[in-house]
Amino acid sequence: MASPQLSVIIPVHNEGANIAPLCERLLPILNRITSVWEVVFVDDGSRDDTLERIREVSRAEPRVGAVSFSRNFGKEIAIAAGLDHAQGDAVVIMDADLQHPPEMIETFVERWREGYMMVYGQRTDRSDETRVKRGFAHLFYQLFARFGEIALPEGAGDFRLIDRKGVEVLRTLGEKARFSKGLYAWIGFKATGVPFVVEERRFGTSKWSFRKLFRFAFDGIAAFSTVPLRIWTYIGFLISILSIATAVFFMIRTLLFGTDLPGFPSLIVSIMFFSGIQLMSLGIVGEYVGRIFAEVKRRPLYVVAERIGGAAEVSSSIVPEAYPLRRA
Ligand code: UDP
Ligand code: MG
Repeated sequence: MASPQLSVIIPVHNEGANIAPLCERLLPILNRITSVWEVVFVDDGSRDDTLERIREVSRAEPRVGAVSFSRNFGKEIAIAAGLDHAQGDAVVIMDADLQHPPEMIETFVERWREGYMMVYGQRTDRSDETRVKRGFAHLFYQLFARFGEIALPEGAGDFRLIDRKGVEVLRTLGEKARFSKGLYAWIGFKATGVPFVVEERRFGTSKWSFRKLFRFAFDGIAAFSTVPLRIWTYIGFLISILSIATAVFFMIRTLLFGTDLPGFPSLIVSIMFFSGIQLMSLGIVGEYVGRIFAEVKRRPLYVVAERIGGAAEVSSSIVPEAYPLRRA
């Protein structure tokens, strides 16, 4: 069989109820575009019937396959695994909850045929999210624009089409704390955005907690900027100057007016202030050291437990040979 022209990667974590409605809507669209397509579900350690549901679809339609992780590795890693397994000349990444309208793929492919290497869906409004979440998202994009090494188009998410050339470059980026949105921008190439409206999640709930999102935002900034690490040099320097000025001020005051009370309050305040600064800067250094630690361990990004359908034939996973892979 010819290698597929179009691959669709769908990371799934406990999305059992969404599999059938998604495939019902997605597969006719793929058939309209080309007959040589494949769908690669990446089952990110689901504990519900997700894998069973995929198996059912795959039995009737072998172009639908899956790679199943041994546990939950997170969406970013699931996307990386999808890129390792997808064989298409163009690869589309989308969510399973039907928030990314599959109809958009037709537009993506049109743009790709026009010569764009990367076509991303750009959400026009975030009104489906809470104000707090939107506020934080905006703050993140501003921080990233100010300090990040690359330009990140606002509103562009994982819903996108990537040309084979771009996929191969992405696969060589083996970093562990993955921030896909940054990586897509980092590889460069001719890219264009297509506006779309995010739909309501079909079944189930979002898998992102605030804590996870915050973690994700920090991963993003830390992966593409060393400013949080370096800024402490300047802050430290400024504070030192300030404390010298304060000391001079106290000295002069004591010389002119004498001492009224031993400087107990100022002492406590300055001790608290400096221990705060020190802990903070230590924490920032720790964040980066933690990342270095994660990289030097050189663990594989993910562990595959099982493969279903089309994905069973592929052995292009970056999991080293030492990991015996059981074939479905
Ligand atoms: N997802 C995943 N692993 C995770 C969390 C989420 O593969 O640890 C998948 C999830 O099944 C869905 C996509 O990533 O297909 C987007 O997740 P979700 O809808 O929860 O995120 P949101 O739309 O709220 O950003
Ligand atoms: Mg969603």
